[in-house]
Amino acid sequence: MFNNQSPPPVIRVFLATPLRRGFDYLCPPELKPVPGMRVWVPFGKGRRIGIVGECDVSPQVSLDKLKPIEAVLDSAPILPPALNKLVRWAADYYLHSPGDAWQQALPVLLRQGAPASGDELFWQLVPGADTSVLAKNASKQLAAVAQLQSGELSDNELGELPFDRATLRTLQDKGLVQSEQRRQQGTPFWENPLLVNPGPRPNSEQAVAITAINAAKGFAPFLLEGVTGSGKTEVYLSAMSETLKAGKQVLVLVPEISLTPQTLRRFQKRFEVPMALLHSGLTDNERLKVWRQARDGELGIVIGTRSAVFTPLARPGLIIVDEEHDASFKQQEGFRYHGRDLAVVRAQLEKVPLVLGSATPALESLANCEAGKYQKLVLNERAGNASQVRFDLIDIKHQPLTAGLSPPVLAAIKAHLGRGEQVLVFLNRRGFAPTLLCHECGWIADCHRCSAYPTVHKGRQRLICHHCGSDRPLPHQCHSCGSTQLVGVGLGTEQLENELSALFPGYKAVRIDRDATRRKGSLESALTGIRQGQYQLLIGTQMLAKGHHFPDVTLVVLLDVDGALYSSDFRAAERLAQLVVQVAGRAGRADKPGRLLLQSHHPEHPLLSQLLTNGYGAFAANALIERRQTLLPPFSAQALFRSDALKAEDAQSLLEAIGQRLQQCAPEGGWVLGPLPAPLERRAGKFRFQLWVQYQDKKGLRQWLAPLLANLEEDPPHRRANWTLDLDPIDSA
Ligand code: ADP
Ligand code: ZN
Ligand code: ZN
Repeated sequence: MFNNQSPPPVIRVFLATPLRRGFDYLCPPELKPVPGMRVWVPFGKGRRIGIVGECDVSPQVSLDKLKPIEAVLDSAPILPPALNKLVRWAADYYLHSPGDAWQQALPVLLRQGAPASGDELFWQLVPGADTSVLAKNASKQLAAVAQLQSGELSDNELGELPFDRATLRTLQDKGLVQSEQRRQQGTPFWENPLLVNPGPRPNSEQAVAITAINAAKGFAPFLLEGVTGSGKTEVYLSAMSETLKAGKQVLVLVPEISLTPQTLRRFQKRFEVPMALLHSGLTDNERLKVWRQARDGELGIVIGTRSAVFTPLARPGLIIVDEEHDASFKQQEGFRYHGRDLAVVRAQLEKVPLVLGSATPALESLANCEAGKYQKLVLNERAGNASQVRFDLIDIKHQPLTAGLSPPVLAAIKAHLGRGEQVLVFLNRRGFAPTLLCHECGWIADCHRCSAYPTVHKGRQRLICHHCGSDRPLPHQCHSCGSTQLVGVGLGTEQLENELSALFPGYKAVRIDRDATRRKGSLESALTGIRQGQYQLLIGTQMLAKGHHFPDVTLVVLLDVDGALYSSDFRAAERLAQLVVQVAGRAGRADKPGRLLLQSHHPEHPLLSQLLTNGYGAFAANALIERRQTLLPPFSAQALFRSDALKAEDAQSLLEAIGQRLQQCAPEGGWVLGPLPAPLERRAGKFRFQLWVQYQDKKGLRQWLAPLLANLEEDPPHRRANWTLDLDPIDSA
């Protein structure tokens, strides 16, 4: 196949396997791939799509063992150079399989081999076709002809029309219609006139922030700190306006839940420029379309959740990460990257300014400001017409509780409702009650597959485990003594809704959690109902704390804060503080100031009092001092090995062996803890263990881990358990 004089070129291809390495293939001389192109290669018994990593490498095995690649799919690297670098950087940084990182960075259809170029099918009338031959009752065909008389149609536009592809095919068979495969030619947004509608006049703090961002040349990271309603979004919009005017694109990352049509409408009101939302509800086709339009510059603005950080842009000009502290930016399985952190790296590679915005910045970001890496911009005043919220701590020790609410809280709810205002009761839990207990013998229903207790969902009459998803009918009898006196323990949002409705008849309650908003559009309609004042009592979980603003809510009650105060997770306190501030930020406006009540058995807790008296900034400053003293992130770097297996000893012994190998090559100051059972010891029938690794800096940690990972893949201690690695873990569950 190849001539003997010059050795055939060998290329290294990244494939979506868990293995952290490339695979070598021979490259027939007529194919001329370059790094970043997709190729078809034989793999095992089948064939796969991979990404060319390097060309002309010296092979890892002897040449006669290598197979040739089958085909090259692209005529150019599939990602622009900076994004190409980002993906490789990320695989390297997170010590992850480069092939899997590539797959995660591409829309599903591109992983499966769809053309990156974007050919589409177009339907046209055949010039001079005699359509009078159509029967008068062929209404679909007549509609199609009428539509095509006003111009051609792309296959993707058929959805809304009163005829379909089959109608067009019939017309095609009759010789009246023809189709053509070609590229839809959109124009880059900068070739069209840009319309920017005026916004409010910035206040002085906003003006300082806007000037700083607009003056930035090249990479410049900013942390924009300001409570909800302080006008951060207005700062984004002003900075975006300059970027768009310069003919450059803006990428906006937002947390999962706050990606609402509300957000989009606000952007659309300001800019008459093509923009797109990338969210989990899109079909694969829609996602690919946005990807292509962004790459070709047809979109001025792309808004999306964490994976949107991999959207190619023809002319990137600005990257914004809203609610940058939000945990949903971290991918929790597979390729465990942090969308915000990758946004920082992307801005660096693209040489563009970056704005991280939050009312409650992550301690990591605040530390980066202290270290001089980010420039901090602060908005202290509440812009527009919002006002400050008053906090009160309610000691519930020895207090009689009704539906989990203490007498002072009930009195406050009554007073606010009586004034015609809205009340938000916030509970960090869903379902009717956490679990089911026998009143006579104390038996508690447990999950058959986990070390957790399943949750009673009374509406659906099911017992559902929130950790493994297993689901069974609600039992009517105790499995131990046979009694029918089964009661729910604790309090969930559903029970809270029922009890509050009973306590305050005459006021309408609405519940917002994942269960109540499962149906498509139900969240939107609930939110609209709240804004229009149809509901007075709002009951909700985290979902209510993000993104939505409720100006007529004047009282927010936060139940269940004690759990976070006494958690084994060192980040729990930071999360609680962020939650308190975020929830408070949803409420109130100038003429009706908001009030936040927290119920706790531990009102003297220093964190709570610090936060409530001096605010998030003071809390964060203290928390950072504590982290520095205890050498916890961001003042050290951590990695978390997780294992799981059907037998506990297998999961445990695997991490024991990994721990021993780590100890053998540990740098001075390197620290290994475990294996420990995971906080949720059993999940979906598997036992889970953890091994924590810590070192003073990220680079040193990776240098320590990298050789070990290669060694683990080639020579695992045993194969009876799975293991994964999480770099910069933020969740220990
Ligand atoms: P954030 O993003 O920090 O929550 P927003 O930008 O949404 O704050 O501002 C909150 C409200 O105040 C919005 O209704 C916004 O239109 C209004 N607003 C923001 N800045 C100004 C300003 N300079 N003058 C008047 N209204 C403003
Ligand atoms: Zn019993
Ligand atoms: Zn379970």
